[in-house]
Amino acid sequence: MGTAKKFYQLSWANRLTTLIDQGIITPAQAKILKQQANNQLLGDQQIENYLTDYHLPQGVAWHYLIDGQQYLAPMVTEEPSVIAASSHGAGLIAQSGGFKTKIGPHILWGQIILEQITNQQQLKQQLLTQKPQLLAVADQAHPSLKKRGGGTRLLRVRSLNDQLLSIDLGIDTQAAMGANMVNSMLEAVAKYLRQQLGSQVLMSILSNLADECLATATCQLPVELLTKGSFSGRQTAKKIALAAHVAQIDPYRAATHNKGIMNGVDAVTIAMGNDWRAIESAAHAYAARDGQYRGLSHWSLSADQQFLQGELTLPLPVGFVGGSIKIVPLVQLNQQLAQIKEVSDLEKLLVCVGLAQNLAALLALVTEGIQRGHMQLQLRSTALAAGAKITEVAEVVQQLQAQGQTDLTSAQLILQKIRKNGDHNDRI
Ligand code: NDP
Repeated sequence: MGTAKKFYQLSWANRLTTLIDQGIITPAQAKILKQQANNQLLGDQQIENYLTDYHLPQGVAWHYLIDGQQYLAPMVTEEPSVIAASSHGAGLIAQSGGFKTKIGPHILWGQIILEQITNQQQLKQQLLTQKPQLLAVADQAHPSLKKRGGGTRLLRVRSLNDQLLSIDLGIDTQAAMGANMVNSMLEAVAKYLRQQLGSQVLMSILSNLADECLATATCQLPVELLTKGSFSGRQTAKKIALAAHVAQIDPYRAATHNKGIMNGVDAVTIAMGNDWRAIESAAHAYAARDGQYRGLSHWSLSADQQFLQGELTLPLPVGFVGGSIKIVPLVQLNQQLAQIKEVSDLEKLLVCVGLAQNLAALLALVTEGIQRGHMQLQLRSTALAAGAKITEVAEVVQQLQAQGQTDLTSAQLILQKIRKNGDHNDRI
């Protein structure tokens, strides 16, 4: 595209016109982009080459009783069954006394990677001796953080191979996620290292493996609550514990087990204006921390076999301020809707959402299978994909269910039939 180099310099309206002029989109499509643009001025500030706002549905999951307090979980997701499963899992846990949580410090790691090292031992020693100066340089690069009670907390030096060292700075980022702050602090230290020690710095950037920013949720359900169909509660509880164990020993299962956890965690993270890629990356790196990728949650039966006990620990370097949080009005509304007042509340909610989502998925998997609960909602999506209008969806879904074939072609044929009959009836 000839003008693509300077596309970002064009006004929003001219960007759309350029796309039409170059035959990439039609005027009718440009109209759709315009209609979907919520706030062009804000969008232009947030990202480069802004065109429109991409909408996802937002709902809310109920029944989150966490440390004796009620929360709602606003969720942004396109996946049909996530919110229903979340409310269901949370509801079972609420009937059993709710979630208990433990929230650790809010520390993000940053790395400065040094290369071309000749004498590792000597350099390591030198860096550790300089620890107070290195921490001071980092803190001075973002003094407001220290004033708020945060700032540098930890420093360690790790050998990556005989040529490479990582200096890891652990920084308390207070109510912010902290990526930008930490990166500025690291770059200041990198500059100091180059100038004062003549170090060869390869790069400096935060690490998304936030294993000093952990949140844990636990719950305990009486097995009777898990009675389902022909399965006794104890049988179901044992199957859930075994299913969770499979995720500990098999990465193929672990990937899907953790995807189910992240279905809820991502949905709330997005609703809260946070960087869900950072949370995804943190969770999966943490899941592989001992060298094998494993399930993030644990489920077991109590010694007397009366209770199913669940536990989930997640690294949750989220923010209550910073990034786009204060500039997107819907995010502030969601903070209020969820009843969260500080960053630790958000961590609590997220880890509990992950555990509830996991319970609902495992419960369905080991009893009736995952498709039954998914199907009603999934069929609506199939009907819409077949071209059904909102007023036609219910009938298409009903007929799909009745005939037992639920693929897209069947939905299209049903729709044709409904419309044909409709025309016929109109003529009578
Ligand atoms: P910001 O750059 O927005 O910094 C946080 C802001 O919040 C600062 O301006 C700070 O003010 C203000 N603030 C107000 N109250 C508080 C408080 N109580 N505690 C802490 N800060 C407060 O955001 P982050 O540094 O959090 O960076 C997050 C963004 O970085 C995300 O959008 C993420 O997508 C992005 N990012 C992520 C990366 C990754 O994950 N690998 C890499 C790079 C960027 P003051 O300046 O006065 O201290």
